[in-house]
Amino acid sequence: MAQEEYDTDVCVVGGGPAGLVLALLMLRSGARVTVVERTRAHHREFRGEILQPGAMALLDELGVLAGARARGGHEHDRFRLVEGDRVLLEADYRLLPAPYDHLLSIPQAHVLDELLDHCRPFAGFRWLDGRRVGGLVRREGRVAGVTAAGPAGPCTVRARVVVGADGRYSRVRRLAGIGAGRTEAFDHDVLWFKLAAGGPAGGGPGGGPPRDVRVFRAGGSPVLVYASWPDRIQIGWTLPHQGYREIAGRGLDHVREQLCRAVPPYAPLIREQIRSQRDLSLLDVFSSRAERWADDGLVLIGDAAHTHSPIGAQGINLAVQDAVVLHPVLTGALAAGDTGAARLAAFEERRAPDIAAVMRLQTLQSKAMLSQGALATRVRPRLARVLRHTPLYRKVLHRIAYGNPSIRISDGADQADERVNPCRRSSTAPRP
Ligand SMILES: Cc1cc2nc3c(=O)[nH]c(=O)nc-3n(C[C@H](O)[C@H](O)[C@H](O)COP(=O)(O)OP(=O)(O)OC[C@H]3O[C@@H](n4cnc5c(N)ncnc54)[C@H](O)[C@@H]3O)c2cc1C
Repeated sequence: MAQEEYDTDVCVVGGGPAGLVLALLMLRSGARVTVVERTRAHHREFRGEILQPGAMALLDELGVLAGARARGGHEHDRFRLVEGDRVLLEADYRLLPAPYDHLLSIPQAHVLDELLDHCRPFAGFRWLDGRRVGGLVRREGRVAGVTAAGPAGPCTVRARVVVGADGRYSRVRRLAGIGAGRTEAFDHDVLWFKLAAGGPAGGGPGGGPPRDVRVFRAGGSPVLVYASWPDRIQIGWTLPHQGYREIAGRGLDHVREQLCRAVPPYAPLIREQIRSQRDLSLLDVFSSRAERWADDGLVLIGDAAHTHSPIGAQGINLAVQDAVVLHPVLTGALAAGDTGAARLAAFEERRAPDIAAVMRLQTLQSKAMLSQGALATRVRPRLARVLRHTPLYRKVLHRIAYGNPSIRISDGADQADERVNPCRRSSTAPRP
C-alpha cells in the first residue's frame, strides 16, 4: 500500500475550532502547517453551535466571522431559565456592547469551512482530511510527528511540533500517556435531538422564530431548547447520569411522553417526529482537565486539554481563545528552535487560571439551573429581577460572554515570519 510522507513545522491533529484557528494564526506567522482530520467533511453531528461574544470577537478579528455568518445562523438575545410560564433566571445579552450583543447559533461547519477557506491560500498549508491519527512519531525521546491511517494507506507527518486539538476523547493525549483528568462534577447525561420546526428560521410553536436559548425546568431534568439553523429546534434533555437506561427500558412511548411533559410547547412536534430511538442521541457529559498540556514536541489545546459540560455554551469560546493564547508561545518556540515541554508549558501557565475560572462559573450555573425547592423557585426570580439592575449582573454576564476579555490576537502575528522560518517567507505567504 502507498505510504504518504510529509514534513511540516506544525502538525495540528483535529480540524475543529481550536485546530483551525491555530492553523490560520500560525500560517499568518509564516509557519508551514499540516492539519490531519479524521472526517471527510465538516458535517459531523452534535458539534456545539452556540457562539459566545468572546469567540465572535476573535473570529471577527481574524476576518472569518462575516463569511461564516453569511452561510447562515440565528441570533439569540437571551439565555432564559423557565418553569411553567415563569422566568426564573435570565442572561440578557442585549445589555452587552454592540456588535456582540447576542449569542449566535451557527452550524460549526459554517465556521470551520470559512476558516479552511482562509487557510487554503497559504502555500505552507496542507489539509489531510479522512486520516485518523493512530500513532506518534518519536525521535530521541520527543514527539516528532504522527502516523495516521488514510484512504490511500498509511500516512506519516513529521513536524517540529505536534498540536493535539482532537477533542474530548483525544487520541493524541492518550498516545502521549497523559491522563484526561476526568471528573463527574456535572453528573448528568444529555439526550440530544433536533425537530423540524415546521416554519421558516426555526419558528417556534408560537409562530415567530424564537430568539431565546431556553432551559425549561421540569422536575430535576432541565431541557435546553433553541432555534438551530436553518429551520430546526435543537433540544437537549438533561438526565441524571445513567438515568436514561431506566426510562428507555419502558419503551419509546414512555420516552416520548416524558419528553412531552418536559417541554410541553413542543409536545405535538415530539409526538409527530420522534419515531424511533435512532432519532435520539444520548451524550456522555463530563468535564476534565488533562494532567499536563505539554510534552517535548507536543502541546494539547481545546477539549483535548480541558473538556467542559455544555452548561453556558463555553467550549467553542475556550477552544478559539486557546488557539489565540498558544499562538505567540508557539511562534516564539519555533523561532528559538526550542519546542521542549518546559517552553511549551508557558501556554498552560497562561491559560489554566482562565479555565479554572470558567469551570467554577459553570458549577454555579449548574447549581442555579438544577436547584429545586420552593424557596429557590420563589426567591430566585425576585432576586434575579433586583440583580438585573446592578453592576454585578453585567459583570457576571460579561464573564460568561467573554471569559478572559483581555485575550487578543497577537500583534506580532504578521511580523513573526522571519523568526519562525527565516528562509520561507515567500513560500508561506498567501498565494496571490
Ligand atoms: C452536546 C454538546 C453540545 C455542545 N454545545 C456547545 C455550544 O452550544 N457552544 C459551545 O461553545 N460549545 C458547545 N459544546 C462544546 C464544543 O462543541 C467543544 O468544546 C468544541 O467543539 C471544542 O473544540 P475543539 O476544536 O477543541 O474540539 P472538537 O470540536 O471536538 O474537534 C476535534 C476534531 O478532531 C478530530 N479528531 C478526533 N480524533 C482524531 C484523530 N484520531 N485523528 C484525526 N482527527 C481527529 C475530530 O473529527 C474533530 O474534527 C458542546 C458539546 C457537546 C457534546
